[in-house]
Amino acid sequence: CGIVGVLGQHEVAPILVEALKRLEYRGYDSAGIATIENGKLDRRRAVGKLVNLSDLLVHEPLAGKIGIGHTRWATHGAPNVANAHPHRAGKVAVVHNGIIENYRELRSDLAAEGIGHETDTDTETVALLADHYLAQGLAPVDAARATIARLEGAYALCFLFDGEPDLLIAARKGSPLAVGHGIGEMYVGSDAIALAPMTDRVTYLEEGDMAVITRTSLLITDHTHTPVNREARTIEVDN
Ligand code: GLU
Repeated sequence: CGIVGVLGQHEVAPILVEALKRLEYRGYDSAGIATIENGKLDRRRAVGKLVNLSDLLVHEPLAGKIGIGHTRWATHGAPNVANAHPHRAGKVAVVHNGIIENYRELRSDLAAEGIGHETDTDTETVALLADHYLAQGLAPVDAARATIARLEGAYALCFLFDGEPDLLIAARKGSPLAVGHGIGEMYVGSDAIALAPMTDRVTYLEEGDMAVITRTSLLITDHTHTPVNREARTIEVDN
């Protein structure tokens, strides 16, 4: 339901939770974040209010200066911890808004390769596919692109890769997604309101766009995989 991503200079867990709080108005049943610390991907998820995730993070902190976060409004699978985002398969973590319509076909394709699923969500198939492409030797950007090419339905997605502490990949089709520009930092949000405390400089992705984001660069390609120039705007939002 709500997506945030931060490629920052500071500890990112509290920033992610704060950004998710700004999306609470949209409603949600569970929440989670994933970060990379010392090259290692890890995640925390909790059912119910964001305060439950905050409490969990007090007892089981998550360090790192890059991360993604999600508030979920369940469409496929009960609102429990296993089905909460970020979803993880091997080296890939992903957050998703929307519905992957062909997740059953994707599941059976993966099953044919000996890859099983552990949750009831449509979203998990995205992580499984991306990790499968990585295992076949594709670089993260190519694995994400190959994965997105297989998806039918509506999505805003943000990927985080184990061992890649300076890379976020975002994509949208049918659900909004914005990239925020900071100083030596970059952000992703399903709503610019989530990013307002960090920045008022925002690039909106268009239908079919994929964004490859580092702390110092943003490369956007359209649905034909052609690099495109999407203007950054200064938005007015209340802090
Ligand atoms: N379809 C996904 C799920 O049920 C994403 C739902 C959402 O947009 O929060 O997990």
